[in-house]
Parts: sequence; C-alpha cells; structure tokens
Amino acid sequence: MDLLEYQGKQLLGRNGVPIPAGRPADSVEAAVGAADELGYPVVIKAQVLIGGRGKAGGVQLAADRNEAQTHAAAILGMDIRGHTVHELWVEQASKIAAELYASIVFDRSARAPLALLSTRGGMDIEEVAAEDPGAIARLHVDPLIGFQDFHARRLCFDAGVDADVVRALGSLLHKLYDAFIAEEAMLIEVNPLIVTEDREVIALDAKVTLDGNALFRHPDNAALRNPSAEDPQERMAKERGLIYVKLGGDIGILGNGAGLVMSTLDVVAQAGGSPANFLDAGGGSKADAIVAAVEVILSDPNVRAVLFNIFGGITRCDEVARGLIEAFGVVEPTVAFVVRLDGTNDEEGRRLLAEANLPNVHVESTMLGAAARVVELAAVNGGPEATRSSQSAGLEAPRS
Ligand code: GDP
Ligand code: MN
Repeated sequence: MDLLEYQGKQLLGRNGVPIPAGRPADSVEAAVGAADELGYPVVIKAQVLIGGRGKAGGVQLAADRNEAQTHAAAILGMDIRGHTVHELWVEQASKIAAELYASIVFDRSARAPLALLSTRGGMDIEEVAAEDPGAIARLHVDPLIGFQDFHARRLCFDAGVDADVVRALGSLLHKLYDAFIAEEAMLIEVNPLIVTEDREVIALDAKVTLDGNALFRHPDNAALRNPSAEDPQERMAKERGLIYVKLGGDIGILGNGAGLVMSTLDVVAQAGGSPANFLDAGGGSKADAIVAAVEVILSDPNVRAVLFNIFGGITRCDEVARGLIEAFGVVEPTVAFVVRLDGTNDEEGRRLLAEANLPNVHVESTMLGAAARVVELAAVNGGPEATRSSQSAGLEAPRS
C-alpha cells in the first residue's frame, strides 16, 4: 500500500526521523490557516500518489499569506499525470544547502533490505542510476544483525557525503531502517534528503510503501488506505475477497491457483496477447466466486476477450461451469469467452456448457490452443474496423 507524502512523513516522524513541521489541508482556507500557524515562508505541496510533483508545478514556495492563497488555489484540483489533487501538505520551508537521496527497499533476490544513498538527490534517481551508477552507494543489511553504525559509515563514505554531516545522517539512516522494520514497509524513499544551511539533515520528501499483507498488524496504518486513489477493479476485487492484479492489457484472465494463472499469463503473452489482469479464483472455487470474478474482470473496459483456464483438483470443473452459466445470467457479457476445463469433472463441465449454449463461449481442450484462440478473438473484437458482422465472422471462422 502506497502512502501519500505527508502520511509517509508522519510515519517517519513518529519513528524519530527529522521532518519539517507541517499540516495537511483539503481547502484553500485550511491551507492558508495552516500556513499562518506555521509561519512564512511555507511550501505548499500537492498530495498525490505519484512522483515528479515539483516538475508539474505541484510544489510551490509561498513567502506570505497572499502567495499561500494563490498557490493553494492553483494546486488544489490540479491534474498531475492523471492524479487529481484533493489534498495539500503545508510545510515550513527549509533552506537547502544540499539534496541527497536515501532509501531502504526490500530486495527479494538477496532476501534482505537494501540501503541506498547518493549525494545526487532531488532529481530523478532512475536517471542517476542509468548515467552514473557509481554515484549511488548500495549496501544490504543482514536482517538478523540489523542496521549498525558501520553500515551508516560505509554508505556515507561510498556516497562521498560531507564529513560534518556523517554523524547526523548516519543517525537518520538508522531511524529509516528501524521505521522500515517496525512498520513492515517494502520501500522507504527520501528524495530529497536535505542538508540545511544550518547543517541539519531532514527528510524533505517521503515515499513509503507498506506491505499490504502485514497491515492487519498495524491497524493505524491500515486506516490510511485511500480507496478513491485505488484502481477501481482492484478495489472491487478486494471487497469480494478475490486475488486480482490489474495488468493493463485487453485479455481478461481467470484461473485457479496462482501458479496456473501465472503460466496462463505467460502462454497468452507467448501467443501474442496482452493480459488485462491476474485473477486467482483459488482452490475449490464455487459458483458464486466465479460470478464475482466475472463481474470484476468485465468491469475493466479494456477487456475484449476472456480466458478461463481451470485445472480441476479440489476445484470441480462442473462447479466452475455452473458459475460461468450463472454469471452469464447476471452480466450478459458482450465479449468472447474461451474456456479450458481439465481435471476433476471436466467432462461434466463441458457438457453443462454445451447444454447452456452460451453466446460467444468457446471451449478449448489445451492451454496453448485456448491462449491462441483468445488472442484471435480479442483482436477481432478490438480492431478499429470491428463491427457486428466482422465480429461474428471472426467467431465462426474455423481455427487454423
Ligand atoms: P517531487 O517532485 O514529487 O519528488 O516532490 P519533492 O517533495 O521532492 O519536491 C520537489 C523539489 O521541491 C525538491 O527537490 C526541492 O528542490 C523543492 N522543495 C521542496 N520543499 C522545499 C523547501 O522547503 N524549500 C526549498 N527551497 N525547496 C523545496
Ligand atoms: Mn521527491
């Protein structure tokens, strides 16, 4: 789960990381009130779940009340790369002497947190990594040992940090790491981490991603969830207890078991298609779960065809077929479905589907054949010249 900057900063703040004083605001009046309380100059910052706000004009310095009012009015409602600004963070302005970059990220391949530090902060760190990878110091932290002073010294030395701030920066890095562990984060990124003119180190930005699977242990963090910023399909799936990940393509995918769904995604990609989602209906999928899943898949307007890939074990193929038939009664899909049923009660499943004679449902016997078919059907449905007749011509066409 991604946090807004100010939520991330507050989380860091309660873990002892130095942050500027600030207040959230969701109206111009509230922003001006907050600025008056904090004292000028202040910085007015758009709160959206996307970076690059500075470049987009979503971070503005206000020297007085008038400027605070003007900037707050301009930023509220602003569109920053598809994200509308509904909230502001008003913060005491800092006097910046240097902008650094620091992050702690979970490195799965190393099975350990990875700490990064660079003196080239403030800008796009991906650019720095591409142009001059040596400018970013990297160090894995053994989770059993935890963050030690020598980690901090090594990072500061490798990154070439000014000697007079090594102690304060080391202490800040230590707190970032402790926050990362205590809050069960997947990423804490501070860009920029600044050195002020008074040689203090402060986190000036915060990007925090928490482990969604650990939120039940952190009810306060779980309450920070911002449903309006979530993808509508993912939110709908979550409410229905389905394991769904939006992928952005045009072929809806449903399978039972994460491994099968992932290999289905691969096979669809291999057949030249682009999956719209990952959806694991789980073992022992019952008809109502299938109905819920079909509704979620079809609520994505990009979906042009759907592939059901079911390997019956505990899941019974006849149950899945019943679910699909029921779903067709509820949602009346306008896109083609390709269904591959294999394993427990597959024959009965296929018989039920044949009897139901659902419009635009194609039964395939192999995974590869099903993938090729669904890619073909999505293309027919998606072409710019697609019309009713070309669609049905495509559907009736014999398989090559
Ligand atoms: P991002 O563009 O979304 O990453 O937003 P940031 O919070 O990183 O802000 C972008 C830039 O605004 C920073 O790199 C700073 O250069 C500048 N900035 C932010 N806060 C202050 C501040 O208090 N004082 C000054 N002088 N500049 C600031
Ligand atoms: Mn930033």
